[in-house]
Amino acid sequence: MPWDSIRKRPEEIALSNLRDYDRAVADFSWDQARALLDGLPGGGLNIAYEAVDRHVAHGLGDKIALRWIGQDDTIRNFTYGDLQRLTSRFANILRSLDIAKGDRVYCLLGRVPELYVAALGSLKAGAVFCPLFSAFGPEPIKARMSIGEAKLLVTTDHFYRRKIAPWHSHLDSLRHVILIDGGDTGTLGIHGLAGLMNRASDHFNIERTAPEDMALLHFTSGTTGRPKGAVHVHAAVIAHHITGQFALDLHTDDIFWCTADPGWVTGTSYGIISPLTNGTTMIVDQAEFDAERWYRILQDQKVSVWYTAPTAIRMLMKVGSEFARRFDLSHLRYMASVGEPLNPEAVVWSAQTFGKPFHDNWWQTETGGIMIANYQAMDVHPGSMGKPLPGVAAGIVEKRDGHIREISAPSTVGELALRPGWPSMMRAYLHEEERYRKCFVDDWYLSGDLAMRGADGYYWFVGRADDMIKSAGHLIGPFEVESALMEHPAVAEVGVIGIPDPVAGETVKAFVALKAGFATSEELRMDLLGHARKKLGPAVAPKEIAFRQNLPKTRSGKIMRRLLKARELGLPEGDTSTLESEER
Ligand code: ATP
Ligand code: MG
Repeated sequence: MPWDSIRKRPEEIALSNLRDYDRAVADFSWDQARALLDGLPGGGLNIAYEAVDRHVAHGLGDKIALRWIGQDDTIRNFTYGDLQRLTSRFANILRSLDIAKGDRVYCLLGRVPELYVAALGSLKAGAVFCPLFSAFGPEPIKARMSIGEAKLLVTTDHFYRRKIAPWHSHLDSLRHVILIDGGDTGTLGIHGLAGLMNRASDHFNIERTAPEDMALLHFTSGTTGRPKGAVHVHAAVIAHHITGQFALDLHTDDIFWCTADPGWVTGTSYGIISPLTNGTTMIVDQAEFDAERWYRILQDQKVSVWYTAPTAIRMLMKVGSEFARRFDLSHLRYMASVGEPLNPEAVVWSAQTFGKPFHDNWWQTETGGIMIANYQAMDVHPGSMGKPLPGVAAGIVEKRDGHIREISAPSTVGELALRPGWPSMMRAYLHEEERYRKCFVDDWYLSGDLAMRGADGYYWFVGRADDMIKSAGHLIGPFEVESALMEHPAVAEVGVIGIPDPVAGETVKAFVALKAGFATSEELRMDLLGHARKKLGPAVAPKEIAFRQNLPKTRSGKIMRRLLKARELGLPEGDTSTLESEER
C-alpha cells in the first residue's frame, strides 16, 4: 500500500453506529432496516412521512430540521413541525391543481427553502419529484422536462421568463407553473406560490403510496454522455435512512451539512431525505463554494457531520491548511466525500488539517444511495472507497462469452458490479428500456466503473470503463496517474486521457491546473514528467503534460475526461448540457 492507513481511535469506534463491520454484514437484513421506519399509519410507505411527519408524531415537532443560510447570511430555521405544515400546504396545492399520483413535479430553483418544501410536499401528494439544476439553460431543461412529461413546474419568475417561456407552448404535458416569487398573474396555469400557500390547509392526508410507487426522477451527471433519467421508488427511503447511519454515521444530535445541490442525486438522497429521516438538523447554504464562507459555516453552525465532494476538497487544499486552522472546527466529528475518486493525497491532507480524514464513498444516480464506503469504525486506506454497505453484495467481474464471471483473485482490475435487490436501486431509465436492460447481466448490475478489491476486502476505484487507457499492453486507469501527479506541490487539479499512438495503441496525456503561486514553464513540465515517472514507472507515466487554467467539469464537479479527449482529437464534443462554465 503506497500510503499508511489511518487508524481509528477506540473512542471513535465506540460511539459509531456501525461498530463491527463484519458483524453488521452478517446480521443485516433489509427487513430490519425497513423496521427502523414507521410506515404510513394505516399502511404504505412514503418518503416524506418518514422524513418529516413521523418525527412530529414522536414529539420532535419543535426540533430544528432545516437551518437555511441565505446568500446574504440571513438565517431561517424550520422545525420538523414547520416542515410538516408547509409540506402539507404544498401537497394540498398540488391536489387542488389536479396533480395525481405519479404525475411529475419539476423544480428549477436554487437552494431556497421553497425547494425543500416542494420536494417533500410533492412526495406527500404521491407525485414524482424531479429536481433540475438551476444553472441549466433552456435546452437541457426542455429536454429533461420532455422526457419526464412534466406536469407542474416550480420556479422563479426570472427563470420562467428566461428559460421556460420561450418554449413553454411546445410542452403539452406542462399544465401548471408555480412561481415562488410571483403574484397571481391571471395567466392560465401560472400561479404565485404565496397566494396558494395562504389559502391551503395545514392538514393533508398523505397519499397512500406503496413501496414500489415511483417517487423520484433523477438525471445522471452526463459525465460520459447523454444524461439518463433514473427512476426511484418510495422504498428507496429504507436505503437512504440506513446508509445515513452506517456510511455518514448520522446520529439525531448531529448538525449535518451536505454541500451537494438537490439538482443531483446526492443533494436529494443526502441533502434532503437521509438527514431528515435520521432526525438531524441539516444545514442548507444558498451560496456557491467559497473557502472562507464554508469554514465559517462549519465553525458558526457547529457542523458535526460534513458530506462534500473531491472537487471542493481540492479547492480547499489549494487555499491551504493554514487558512483552515484560523477557524474553530472542533465540532466536526465525521467527514465524507462522494462523486469522484478521492485522491489519497486529499485524504492525508484532511487528516493532517482537520485531525480526521475524509471518508470516501462510492455510488451512482442509479444506485440511489451509498453502496461502498469507509466507516467510522474502520481504518481508512487513503485512495480506497472502503467496503460494501451491509446488505449490498458487490463483486469485481468480467464478461466472457456474453456471461459474467466474478474475479476472485485479489487486486485484479474488473468491472464493479452489484447484486440487484437493495431498495434504492433504480427501477428504470425513463423511456429507455434497452439502455436499462443492458445494465443487468446474469443477476449482476454492471456499474460501468472499473475497480479492484484487495485481499482485505477494501475496494479501489480504477476508472470509468470509458476512460481507461490501453498503452503498450497495459491497462491504465486515469485515477492512478492523476493521484500521482496530485502529490506534486504545484498541482491543483489534473485530468488524464489516452491519445491514439501508432506504436503503443494509446499514450497517456495529462492536463494539469496549477496552484496559485506556480507559473507554467518548460522546467515545471519536465519536473512533473520526472515526478510521475518516478512514482508510476515509464510504462504508466504520462508522455505529455499540458497546462490548463481550468479543467472542464460537470456542474456537479466531475472532471469531464471525454471532453478533454474530444478537444484534443478534434472530435465532436457530444452532450455538454451539464458542462460547468469554464471561466472560473
Ligand atoms: P453519466 O452516467 O451521465 O455519465 P455520471 O456517471 O457522472 O454521469 P453520477 O451518477 O452522478 O453520473 O455519478 C456516478 C459516477 O461517479 C460513478 O459511476 C463513478 O464513476 C463516479 N463516482 C462516484 N463516487 C465515486 C468515488 N467515491 N470514487 C470514484 N468515482 C466515483
Ligand atoms: Mg454514470
